[in-house]
Amino acid sequence: MSEPKLAELKQRLQVVFDLNMAASLLGWDQNTYMPPGGAEARARQIALLGQLAHERFTDEAVGHLLDDLRPYEASLPYDSDDASLIRVTRRDYERLVRVPATFVAEFNAHASRSYQAWTEARPANNFAGVRPMLEKTLDHSRQLADYFPGYSHIADPLIDFADYGMKAESVRALFAQLREQLVPLVQAITNQPPADDSCIRRHYPEDAQLRFGLDIIRQYGYDFTRGRQDKTHHPFMTKFSLGDIRITTRVKENDIGDALFSTLHEAGHAMYEMGIDPAYEGTPLANGTSAGVHESQSRLWENIVGRSRGFWEHFYPQLQAAFPGTLDDVSVDTFYRAINKVQKSLIRVDADEVTYNLHVMLRFDLELQLLEGTLAVRDLPEAWQDRYDHDLGLTAPDDRDGVLQDVHWYGGGIGGAFQGYTLGNILSAQYYEAALKAHPNIPSEIAQGKFDTLHGWLRDHIYRSGSKFTANELTERATGSPLRIEPYIAYLRAKYADLYAL
Ligand code: ZN
Repeated sequence: MSEPKLAELKQRLQVVFDLNMAASLLGWDQNTYMPPGGAEARARQIALLGQLAHERFTDEAVGHLLDDLRPYEASLPYDSDDASLIRVTRRDYERLVRVPATFVAEFNAHASRSYQAWTEARPANNFAGVRPMLEKTLDHSRQLADYFPGYSHIADPLIDFADYGMKAESVRALFAQLREQLVPLVQAITNQPPADDSCIRRHYPEDAQLRFGLDIIRQYGYDFTRGRQDKTHHPFMTKFSLGDIRITTRVKENDIGDALFSTLHEAGHAMYEMGIDPAYEGTPLANGTSAGVHESQSRLWENIVGRSRGFWEHFYPQLQAAFPGTLDDVSVDTFYRAINKVQKSLIRVDADEVTYNLHVMLRFDLELQLLEGTLAVRDLPEAWQDRYDHDLGLTAPDDRDGVLQDVHWYGGGIGGAFQGYTLGNILSAQYYEAALKAHPNIPSEIAQGKFDTLHGWLRDHIYRSGSKFTANELTERATGSPLRIEPYIAYLRAKYADLYAL
């Protein structure tokens, strides 16, 4: 009988899950409350837990169980929970068993130290200070890729970790197709007089900002009995179990957009995880299925919903009431235009929906060049400036707003870190289109501050299955077709044709 084997597999996976979740908790603390003096020991502790999880998961006993379970798996439908658990575990196992545990520990310890160095180097505008660390990160990333020989591009295995099934070549082709549509759109918009967004940069007290954001995500369906929000430098979502899924934000009192939209964004990530079938707890199925699908959920709630006209027709009076006297002279139309202002800018996380993908594409290309060895880390700041100049017509005054702006390369690896953002933008529109097809009343519900129908559709078609299906399978099942850029382009054209009278 296969049940005892499956039970043993689940037991082993539970231990791996718990070790990883404990490491996440240490990481959350490192990014929220830990004093700087804790950095060195914390790096070691996170690395140790990662190594233990890796050793437990790649234990040959797990391999034997997966082999023994083949006949049972074959007797089940592809989409059954048990077959999916065995299939996905085997995919992860066959991947991770190639990577030595000592390498995992070294990789993670270095990533953690490098992150700490970046938190000091960025405010000091000191790229030279983190350069040796980044060079080591690049070596590590190459070494990781080389555990998967047979790739056609060295970035392929790294992209595959984040967005299973994608390769450097397929992402490049997709981005080229998107760029062809986006560049003329950006040009047409930026040829027009810019929107006045000064209302965003008035004084907005921190407490009221945090309260307002939390109130909206509660209405979105973020479950505060299974989550909380704290402050950090670089907002993120993390989880310690399916019952504890947290988000972080940062507040600027002279900018109403920063905390608010980061809260809506991270809540989108969190609601995905909160919607996973609780039966998958403690297994590899209890995760979002890919970076791209994850990002589709954050961008959907942040942009498609949270920057829509209907949404603000409902919430704007509440925003005005939350900051008495601050927005009395600003109409909802002016505010709506301000939060959707399109402009070529230097900072990815502050970029509007239309130019955002240009920021992603240039990072993706730089990652490929670094990994190929056609770009050296020491030449990265200049290459960065050249691409910004070429793609966005702007040059950063210093590395703080240039190559030091994103945490990714300093707190992880190089390769596979960025394509998910644009895949997410594309998918967000494709999923929303499918939800609308099923429930054409969703926009009018949003305009009444009601999100149940949309949230319910996403739960049934995206969230519930966790990692059971690959991104491609999930997208086919949810929308009836593979990833397509058309819904995203149509969404942008319709929205911005109205905003900018194109
Ligand atoms: Zn995100």
